[in-house]
Amino acid sequence: MKKISLIVPCYNEENCLLAFDEKLSEVVGQMGDYEFEVFYINDGSKDHTLEIMRQICKKRDYACYLSFSRNFGKEAAMYAGFSNADGDYVAVMDADLQDPPELLPDMVKILESGEYDSVATRRIDRAGEPPIRSFFARMFYRLINKISDADIVDGARDYRLMKREMADVIVAMGEQNRFSKGIFGWIGFRTYWYAFENVKRAAGETKWSFWKLLKYSLNGIVSFSQVPLGIASWMGMACTGISLAAIVFIVIRKLIFGDPVQGWASNMCVMIFIGGVQLFCLGVIGQYVGKTYAETKKRPHYIVSECSKGQIKKVG
Ligand code: UDP
Ligand code: MG
Repeated sequence: MKKISLIVPCYNEENCLLAFDEKLSEVVGQMGDYEFEVFYINDGSKDHTLEIMRQICKKRDYACYLSFSRNFGKEAAMYAGFSNADGDYVAVMDADLQDPPELLPDMVKILESGEYDSVATRRIDRAGEPPIRSFFARMFYRLINKISDADIVDGARDYRLMKREMADVIVAMGEQNRFSKGIFGWIGFRTYWYAFENVKRAAGETKWSFWKLLKYSLNGIVSFSQVPLGIASWMGMACTGISLAAIVFIVIRKLIFGDPVQGWASNMCVMIFIGGVQLFCLGVIGQYVGKTYAETKKRPHYIVSECSKGQIKKVG
């Protein structure tokens, strides 16, 4: 009997979890030919998520929970799930029912057809999302696909079912600055894209503010592309070229017209411009140095303070 491991990251999901559990148990019931193992990851929730998880795990023998010592973020929660899941197939699924559990039987069927190593989901519309957020999201996907080798599909969700081989590679990629959409695309494998219409959150609110998303997308760019470093050096070269031309111009002008004390304003403009470019480039380099610093410390991605099962990797 094949085993399916599901990873469900949860942060302040007290309003969604019971509905999610109901829906999921229906799907598990329909798929009697498979063994299930469901990891609920409590990512430092400040509401009653953990108590609800305890209840669910008492009721369902296929479910277990890991509770983090604080909020480590969805990426860390997914990593904890991948590190502990040992099913033949592994999937990540949000707790807010935006990743419909009822797609699972179809996804398993596609995977078992043998042609694909993973079935990824993509929403075909962005209904219910603020237009400004959709606009920036589209721009981000266009940009990151141009400047990196991570193949990221617009509208891709983290909800994907994959074979053991692919899950093993994801665990082996232990980088600190995790950007799963990039990692999934970068490692390759044959992926089937399953399109579905956007579903609104069952209850509660999204955990992603505009600024959090912006920071996350910049992290994605720094993790998967060195183009910003290239831009910094091209800008440096362009400024050097312009200043060489300006020197020639100023020297010739002095030789012809002498040196009347003039040009304070233009001098200041040039200084401020060059100063700005230098700070910008330093900032870009700083981003990469900062990420390198975080990588060298090799701190764990997550710390588990409580769990419902014996053999769990508590730090990883
Ligand atoms: N999540 C998490 N840790 C966080 C933020 C979110 O585990 O710090 C979980 C959240 O509980 C949900 C999933 O990640 O199951 C997706 O979050 P959300 O629905 O807020 O994101 P959106 O669907 O709006 O992109
Ligand atoms: Mg959601």
